[in-house]
Amino acid sequence: MDLSKLNAAQREAVETLQGPVLVLAGAGTGKTRVITYRMARLLRAGVQADRILSVTFTNKAAKEMLERTKALIGASLKKRPWISTFHSLCVQVLREDISRLGYPPLFAILDRGDQESMARKVLRDIRVTEKSLKPGDLLSLIGKWKSAGLNPERAATIAEDDKESLGAMAYRRYQLALKASGSVDFDDLLLLTEQLFDTCPDVLKKNQQRFSHVQIDEYQDTNGLQFRIIESLVREHHNLCVVGDDDQSIYGWRGAEVKHILGFARTFPGAKVVRLEENYRCTDRIIDHANRLVSHNRDRHKKVLRAHKPAKEEVRFIEYPDEQLEAEKVVGEIRFLHQKKGLPLVQFAILFRTNEQPRLFESELRRQQLPYVLMGSQSFYDRKEIKDLLSYLKVIGRPDDEQSLLRIINTPARGISDAACEKLLARAVKVGVPIWNVVEPALVEKEITQKAADALRKLHGQFRRWREQFQQHPEKMDQLLRTLIEEIDYDREIERQYKDEQQQAQRKVVLQDYVNSLAEYVEKASPPTLHDYLSSIALERRDEEPDKEAMAQSDAVKLMTLHSAKGLEFPRVYMVGMEEGLLPHKRTIEGTEAEIAEERRLCYVGVTRAQESLTLTRAASRRKWGKPRPSQPSRFIMEMRGETKPNG
Ligand code: ATP
Ligand code: MG
Repeated sequence: MDLSKLNAAQREAVETLQGPVLVLAGAGTGKTRVITYRMARLLRAGVQADRILSVTFTNKAAKEMLERTKALIGASLKKRPWISTFHSLCVQVLREDISRLGYPPLFAILDRGDQESMARKVLRDIRVTEKSLKPGDLLSLIGKWKSAGLNPERAATIAEDDKESLGAMAYRRYQLALKASGSVDFDDLLLLTEQLFDTCPDVLKKNQQRFSHVQIDEYQDTNGLQFRIIESLVREHHNLCVVGDDDQSIYGWRGAEVKHILGFARTFPGAKVVRLEENYRCTDRIIDHANRLVSHNRDRHKKVLRAHKPAKEEVRFIEYPDEQLEAEKVVGEIRFLHQKKGLPLVQFAILFRTNEQPRLFESELRRQQLPYVLMGSQSFYDRKEIKDLLSYLKVIGRPDDEQSLLRIINTPARGISDAACEKLLARAVKVGVPIWNVVEPALVEKEITQKAADALRKLHGQFRRWREQFQQHPEKMDQLLRTLIEEIDYDREIERQYKDEQQQAQRKVVLQDYVNSLAEYVEKASPPTLHDYLSSIALERRDEEPDKEAMAQSDAVKLMTLHSAKGLEFPRVYMVGMEEGLLPHKRTIEGTEAEIAEERRLCYVGVTRAQESLTLTRAASRRKWGKPRPSQPSRFIMEMRGETKPNG
């Protein structure tokens, strides 16, 4: 392993293998490099791979780190190091011991869509109308409370208005409903892990002994709950190395608290604090802009960030008359640089603040025939066909999953009417069992039509068979799914839904893609199981992450939000829509200074992704609700240019 690829400060962090280490440093200073080298160093020092835990912020970052570590030690690993996100770590911990908390070991993980239907159901049960509390708002409240570690009872006592009181009540029902159906949401993964550690000392001990060394990347976005989980894991040995940058904390809404960075030395007395000041990523011009921008934030750790690379290009600010031209010209320039100057498309990234922004850029890229990938777009899993098939898999995996069962019970149409479903539901509620248990038609036959009863009987039998097959041959999951699609004649459903033949053909390709993605999973997993697959899907969908398809297609322009660009780097970056109301986001403009400060950090993250060239663009006029409206340039532009002075 070649430590000469590190500077003195980096080497110090990499070589300090025992005790607490905090690396606090600006963007592009090699923090992630430190974590990766340090892992290789630990392996070299003879630490068993599976006793090292490295926590990253996304699953993609985890995969990348594993690859780099392997390359560094230049040997194959007998055991796998634990490189995972907080959430997948918790899934592993919970799968072993969640039964101690009264949940089934094969608990399901709700994704955002599942959560919403659950919230809707709960609000309906307690007769709260959308006017008093929307399902989405309920979920935000629950998320906020959960991140703060508050249970429903505590939430009720601190509720500040009627909405919050209602919310706290619904929160209680929501938790009960989740538990009754043997499922958990993302926040529960963390909460239940903490609870498990708090209430079962033997489980905590087992997990403490599992890891001799723990490291965390992107530490600034760790929230209190995550911090407590890690703290309890390393309590005995304090072998914890964290790296982060307070200027890049961008997940305030998920309860990340910069104070943990600052409190680290207090929690872990004697911690070695390492500062990295050399930025290896960006040119000096880009760093000048980044430094000027972030100097407008108060309450930050004073840090030095020096550029290593002289600039060949100036940072550009370009204003276009409207958003159409903005997209056309930016894409036009990329095309020119690619076709006339021979720059590969992988070098280009277009970054934006909101999910509505990429649409115009996508259609321009298609029009000008440049391949592109929209990272973090979850459209693949949001397609109806995929959702349907996924629901089949979920019901195979867990018959108790009522929402999925109701989704597909009559898809494709098989003569089970809504009325029949109502009967099933009523029956299930009355007997107090999951719907699946009353699907066995004998239990309901008298109340529904003969046709529906026959269909139910058939479906019941099919699921029983599928369940057996998936259990016995998880390695053939993709083939099994293909047969299932034929068996239920899903093609017919598509033909029923879409009259246009071309559309039908497209939809059938989606099915094929899905089977392919399952085949990919089977190939990589060791060993593949349906439950493991379903949790991996749920986890992957949580983060705004590039999907596999997207990463595979490397010679393409990358489009992504500023949030999902965290930790990444690109030679040429376009930050588009640099306007008040977009960045800073309109939600924050009327808000507090703290909210603006977070938008500023987000801008800082964007700027510091650029290695060689940075272009900031805006449209002087942009359509809102169909009407062109004049826009104001983002205040951050003036700040970067040094046209406004930081106050205080
Ligand atoms: P961010 O704050 O954006 O997460 P980071 O601090 O994690 O950034 P890295 O991504 O680890 O920074 O490194 C930024 C770039 O600098 C990478 O291309 C990395 O390979 C390079 N780099 C890091 N350290 C060195 C070094 N000592 N010498 C040369 N290049 C380096
Ligand atoms: Mg990093």
